[in-house]
Amino acid sequence: MNVDHIPSKLDFSKEAKNQRKLKFSIQGSRLPRLVNLLPQVDSNIQATLMFGMDEDKKMFLDLQVEANLLLECQRCLEPLPFELVSEHRLVPEGGNDQEPMEGVEPLVLDENGNIDVIEILEDELLLALPMCPMHETLKCHSEKKDLQDLPETHKPFSGLAELLNKLN
Ligand SMILES: [Zn+2]
Repeated sequence: MNVDHIPSKLDFSKEAKNQRKLKFSIQGSRLPRLVNLLPQVDSNIQATLMFGMDEDKKMFLDLQVEANLLLECQRCLEPLPFELVSEHRLVPEGGNDQEPMEGVEPLVLDENGNIDVIEILEDELLLALPMCPMHETLKCHSEKKDLQDLPETHKPFSGLAELLNKLN
Protein backbone atom coordinates (compact mmCIF):
# COMPACT_ATOMS: atom_id res chain seq x y z
CA MET A 1 0.00 0.00 0.00
CA ASN A 2 1.27 3.38 -0.96
CA VAL A 3 0.92 5.71 1.97
CA ASP A 4 0.95 9.45 1.36
CA HIS A 5 2.39 11.91 3.76
CA ILE A 6 -0.15 13.84 5.77
CA PRO A 7 -0.82 17.44 4.77
CA SER A 8 -2.10 19.75 7.50
CA LYS A 9 -4.20 22.08 5.34
CA LEU A 10 -5.71 21.48 1.92
CA ASP A 11 -7.48 23.84 -0.48
CA PHE A 12 -10.85 22.12 -0.65
CA SER A 13 -12.18 23.39 -3.98
CA LYS A 14 -8.85 22.81 -5.72
CA GLU A 15 -8.66 19.21 -4.49
CA ALA A 16 -12.31 18.59 -5.38
CA LYS A 17 -11.77 19.80 -8.96
CA ASN A 18 -8.67 17.59 -9.22
CA GLN A 19 -10.56 14.65 -7.69
CA ARG A 20 -7.63 14.02 -5.46
CA LYS A 21 -7.35 10.78 -3.57
CA LEU A 22 -5.25 10.63 -0.45
CA LYS A 23 -4.49 7.65 1.73
CA PHE A 24 -2.42 7.70 4.89
CA SER A 25 -2.04 6.17 8.30
CA ILE A 26 -1.40 8.14 11.45
CA GLN A 27 -0.48 7.21 15.00
CA GLY A 28 -3.46 7.67 17.30
CA SER A 29 -1.18 9.38 19.80
CA ARG A 30 -0.90 12.34 17.37
CA LEU A 31 -4.57 13.14 17.80
CA PRO A 32 -4.87 15.10 21.07
CA ARG A 33 -8.65 14.91 21.47
CA LEU A 34 -8.55 11.13 21.04
CA VAL A 35 -5.71 10.80 23.55
CA ASN A 36 -7.78 12.75 26.09
CA LEU A 37 -10.70 10.41 25.66
CA LEU A 38 -9.14 6.95 25.54
CA PRO A 39 -7.05 5.18 28.19
CA GLN A 40 -4.54 4.00 25.60
CA VAL A 41 -3.94 5.22 22.04
CA ASP A 42 -0.99 3.43 20.49
CA SER A 43 -2.54 2.01 17.34
CA ASN A 44 -2.43 3.25 13.79
CA ILE A 45 -5.42 4.87 12.18
CA GLN A 46 -5.98 4.41 8.45
CA ALA A 47 -7.64 7.22 6.56
CA THR A 48 -8.72 7.58 2.95
CA LEU A 49 -9.85 10.91 1.57
CA MET A 50 -11.50 11.14 -1.83
CA PHE A 51 -12.33 14.58 -3.15
CA GLY A 52 -14.79 15.03 -5.97
CA MET A 53 -17.75 16.77 -7.56
CA ASP A 54 -21.21 15.28 -8.10
CA GLU A 55 -23.48 15.66 -11.16
CA ASP A 56 -24.83 18.96 -9.78
CA LYS A 57 -21.27 20.30 -9.53
CA LYS A 58 -21.45 20.15 -5.76
CA MET A 59 -18.08 19.46 -4.24
CA PHE A 60 -17.66 16.76 -1.65
CA LEU A 61 -15.11 14.83 0.34
CA ASP A 62 -15.60 11.13 1.00
CA LEU A 63 -13.78 10.17 4.17
CA GLN A 64 -13.12 6.61 5.33
CA VAL A 65 -11.51 5.84 8.65
CA GLU A 66 -10.41 2.51 10.10
CA ALA A 67 -8.80 1.90 13.45
CA ASN A 68 -8.37 -0.80 16.05
CA LEU A 69 -8.76 1.00 19.33
CA LEU A 70 -8.80 0.11 22.98
CA LEU A 71 -11.72 1.66 24.80
CA GLU A 72 -12.56 1.43 28.47
CA CYS A 73 -15.54 -0.72 29.40
CA GLN A 74 -17.97 1.51 31.31
CA ARG A 75 -19.07 -1.41 33.47
CA CYS A 76 -15.78 -3.02 34.62
CA LEU A 77 -13.26 -0.33 33.50
CA GLU A 78 -11.11 -2.98 31.80
CA PRO A 79 -9.81 -2.46 28.23
CA LEU A 80 -12.31 -3.16 25.49
CA PRO A 81 -11.00 -3.76 21.95
CA PHE A 82 -13.03 -1.88 19.38
CA GLU A 83 -12.77 -2.05 15.62
CA LEU A 84 -13.81 1.30 14.27
CA VAL A 85 -14.88 1.56 10.65
CA SER A 86 -16.53 4.75 9.54
CA GLU A 87 -17.40 6.32 6.25
CA HIS A 88 -19.05 9.65 5.56
CA ARG A 89 -19.51 12.14 2.78
CA LEU A 90 -18.60 15.63 3.91
CA VAL A 91 -19.95 18.70 2.12
CA PRO A 92 -19.31 22.35 2.93
CA GLU A 93 -22.07 23.99 4.92
CA GLY A 94 -24.02 26.23 2.56
CA GLY A 95 -27.35 27.91 3.35
CA ASN A 96 -30.43 26.31 4.82
CA ASP A 97 -32.10 25.53 1.50
CA GLN A 98 -30.57 22.07 1.35
CA GLU A 99 -32.08 19.21 3.31
CA PRO A 100 -29.31 17.32 5.08
CA MET A 101 -28.89 13.95 3.41
CA GLU A 102 -28.39 10.63 5.10
CA GLY A 103 -24.74 9.86 5.83
CA VAL A 104 -23.66 13.41 5.00
CA GLU A 105 -21.79 15.56 7.51
CA PRO A 106 -21.01 19.27 7.29
CA LEU A 107 -17.46 20.16 6.32
CA VAL A 108 -15.87 23.17 7.96
CA LEU A 109 -13.69 25.39 5.76
CA ASP A 110 -11.54 28.16 7.15
CA GLU A 111 -11.65 31.72 5.79
CA ASN A 112 -9.31 30.75 2.93
CA GLY A 113 -11.38 27.74 1.89
CA ASN A 114 -8.94 25.27 3.42
CA ILE A 115 -9.69 22.18 5.42
CA ASP A 116 -7.68 20.91 8.35
CA VAL A 117 -7.04 17.25 7.56
CA ILE A 118 -6.15 16.14 11.09
CA GLU A 119 -9.12 17.95 12.57
CA ILE A 120 -11.71 16.40 10.25
CA LEU A 121 -10.14 13.00 10.81
CA GLU A 122 -10.39 13.48 14.55
CA ASP A 123 -14.02 14.65 14.26
CA GLU A 124 -14.86 11.53 12.28
CA LEU A 125 -13.25 9.26 14.87
CA LEU A 126 -14.97 10.93 17.80
CA LEU A 127 -18.34 10.69 16.04
CA ALA A 128 -17.83 6.98 15.44
CA LEU A 129 -16.94 6.07 19.02
CA PRO A 130 -19.72 4.48 21.06
CA MET A 131 -21.15 6.72 23.81
CA CYS A 132 -21.04 4.02 26.44
CA PRO A 133 -18.77 1.14 25.42
CA MET A 134 -19.24 -2.12 27.33
CA HIS A 135 -18.17 -5.74 27.07
CA GLU A 136 -20.84 -8.26 26.26
CA THR A 137 -22.29 -9.43 29.57
CA LEU A 138 -20.53 -12.80 29.59
CA LYS A 139 -17.14 -11.31 28.69
CA CYS A 140 -17.32 -8.44 31.14
CA HIS A 141 -15.02 -8.58 34.16
CA SER A 142 -17.40 -6.74 36.41
CA GLU A 143 -18.54 -8.46 39.60
CA LYS A 144 -21.73 -6.49 39.35
CA LYS A 145 -22.87 -8.34 36.27
CA ASP A 146 -24.56 -11.08 38.34
CA LEU A 147 -26.57 -8.45 40.10
CA GLN A 148 -27.65 -6.88 36.82
CA ASP A 149 -28.84 -10.22 35.51
CA LEU A 150 -31.30 -10.62 38.34
CA PRO A 151 -34.96 -10.09 37.56
CA GLU A 152 -36.45 -6.70 38.36
CA THR A 153 -38.11 -7.79 41.63
CA HIS A 154 -34.77 -8.72 43.22
CA LYS A 155 -33.29 -5.25 42.97
CA PRO A 156 -33.77 -3.90 46.48
CA PHE A 157 -33.09 -0.27 45.57
CA SER A 158 -35.00 -0.05 42.32
CA GLY A 159 -37.83 1.90 43.92
CA LEU A 160 -35.55 4.27 45.79
CA ALA A 161 -35.10 6.88 43.06
CA GLU A 162 -38.84 7.10 42.60
CA LEU A 163 -39.35 7.45 46.32
CA LEU A 164 -36.78 10.25 46.57
CA ASN A 165 -38.50 12.09 43.73
CA LYS A 166 -41.79 11.96 45.58
CA LEU A 167 -40.24 13.37 48.73
CA ASN A 168 -38.79 16.37 46.90
ZN1 LIG B 1 -16.45 -4.92 31.01
